[in-house]
Amino acid sequence: MVPFENREQIVKPHMEQQEELKVFISTRESTCDDCGENLGPKAWITLTREKGALCLACADLDHLIFLPPGDPALTRRARKHSTLAAVVLKWSRARKRYERQGLLVETQALEKAEEECLADSDIRARRKEREAARREELDRQYVEQFAARVKELFPRCPTGREREIAEHACLKYSRRVGRSASTKKLDEEAVRLAVIAHIRHRETEYDELLSKGYDRWEARAEVEGAVYLVLKRWEGC
Ligand SMILES: [Zn+2]
Repeated sequence: MVPFENREQIVKPHMEQQEELKVFISTRESTCDDCGENLGPKAWITLTREKGALCLACADLDHLIFLPPGDPALTRRARKHSTLAAVVLKWSRARKRYERQGLLVETQALEKAEEECLADSDIRARRKEREAARREELDRQYVEQFAARVKELFPRCPTGREREIAEHACLKYSRRVGRSASTKKLDEEAVRLAVIAHIRHRETEYDELLSKGYDRWEARAEVEGAVYLVLKRWEGC
């Protein structure tokens, strides 16, 4: 009996994954090939090339405790302390692949991991705060550098606008990439694009056109000439 959609793939794992013990949550009625017990429709089983499907008792994994995901530090530590551990997988019908449900670890390993996490939860919380503060600081520096670049390339840009442009660029970048803006380069092209976007919204009827139902590209084409003139003026030409 083949309880899985692509059993071939399971019994012949990739080389680099061979070390990892896997437990599957069956999606169909299955039977243990060793003890012969009917395990029902959602049994937790292992699959081996030699013995076929085994229940956790026959696989000698029934002393392990299930650790659901959600706490990476706890998972990492429990795994580290566990001599025997297995990853729990379940077939996702929607995604057509096996997905991790959590980890089976030794009880003592989990307890030890819990103690460790409790002991340094303060330290980890503080580290997190420190990292957030550092990111903020880097973003602040980035805004200043970006604003300075705007002034350098567009010396006639009205005072205060350079900061507005820089803050917007920083925010946009942080949102898009989900991390500090400081890694973004300050090359001339990036600065120029940010300035153009700003001019479009603030110095032309672009937003008005959008509100009238123009699509983005039509509206951009419409205000291109106006943008160019402002750009040249700010450059000091
Ligand atoms: Zn069995």
